[in-house]
Amino acid sequence: MEANGAKTKRIEELKDRVSAEVDNHRGELVALSHRIHDDPELGFREVKASAWLSDYLSGSGFNVERGISGMPTAFRAVYGRQRPAIAILAEYDALPGLGHGCGHNIIASIAVGAAVAARPAVDDLGGSVMVLGTPAEELHGGKITMIERGAFADLDAALIVHPGRRNAATEKTLACVSLDVEFFGREAHASANPEQGLNALEAMVLSFNSINSLRQHIRRQSRVHGIITDGGKAANIVPGHSAGSFLVRSDNQRDLGELKDKVLSCFEGAAIATGTRLEYRWGERPYQPLRSNQVIESRFAANLSSLGRRVDSPDETWGAGSTDMGNVSQVVPAIHATIAITTSPEATLHSPEFALAAASAEGDLGVIDGAKATAMTVVDLLGRPRLVEQAWREFSTPAGVAAGRGI
Ligand SMILES: [Zn+2]
Ligand SMILES: [Zn+2]
Repeated sequence: MEANGAKTKRIEELKDRVSAEVDNHRGELVALSHRIHDDPELGFREVKASAWLSDYLSGSGFNVERGISGMPTAFRAVYGRQRPAIAILAEYDALPGLGHGCGHNIIASIAVGAAVAARPAVDDLGGSVMVLGTPAEELHGGKITMIERGAFADLDAALIVHPGRRNAATEKTLACVSLDVEFFGREAHASANPEQGLNALEAMVLSFNSINSLRQHIRRQSRVHGIITDGGKAANIVPGHSAGSFLVRSDNQRDLGELKDKVLSCFEGAAIATGTRLEYRWGERPYQPLRSNQVIESRFAANLSSLGRRVDSPDETWGAGSTDMGNVSQVVPAIHATIAITTSPEATLHSPEFALAAASAEGDLGVIDGAKATAMTVVDLLGRPRLVEQAWREFSTPAGVAAGRGI
């Protein structure tokens, strides 16, 4: 009992220490967050952001490898050597036309802040902490390439904290696959010889209508949505070509597989009805649903609430997007947490209002509290080897059991 008590005291002291370290670096972390925010870079082009983050970590005693996994803007920054090996993930890509409307400048600053603050814990307890710089989360799934190229091998836990409108240790996310379609018909004069035409735009319109009919009969958690990227060249020419880009989502892989077949039938039926030819291509790197590790979640939630924040649990009111962190959570025990940076109803993810919140005083506080909760969770994982064992045991249970949570 006494040994346990002494250990608990040591861990609590280390948590105070790493928390104070975050405060010591407050000015630098907020400046880093604003610098990335003020100079938004799209996925795979985050040259400045990845350099600023790598430079800061290198200057803080981390061993930095730039351009890992064959991607110039991916990096790994390690402090310490042995296991447990805890990775904190940074994203830093922006959105076209919206700048940092997803607040990835905050994710990056939290990751760097937590890792730098956790150094005394690594010195004291052993193990290692690393920042993995993961490019192009929006649409391109940089983490999926990094998984394929081994960047997530030999890790014990992967943590990421995304800004949002609530505080939470987990998130609802959906499996997601992209679908690009094209219809090939035949051009003709739309008034003089319409009977000579095969209308590729009508095929696309029919596909949308079929998908909208299908929507009545898909599961509540599933989503199908898309845009037309080519709808013809001129009103007086029967469109001989149309193209569209779609996303198909569901909360588990099996249902996603069934939904994909049904969605594809909508396009195939439209091709038959219009006499056009369909070509399609499913995305090669689908996003998988998040498999949040409850052992790590519970530690993060306790640490976040110790900072005076109310931590919410998932319910039916939570919307769900998709993230390549889902794929990471399928290969290593992981959490995808959220830190509140606004309560404004207009400031939803991917909005101009959220971009403003990502550089506001509340956003800056989100950087500090997110970094503290993450660094404290690193202390828990390095200081209590049994926690890491439990996290792995949960991870090793069949996916169907974990999926029963309905996340
Ligand atoms: Zn986003
Ligand atoms: Zn995001």
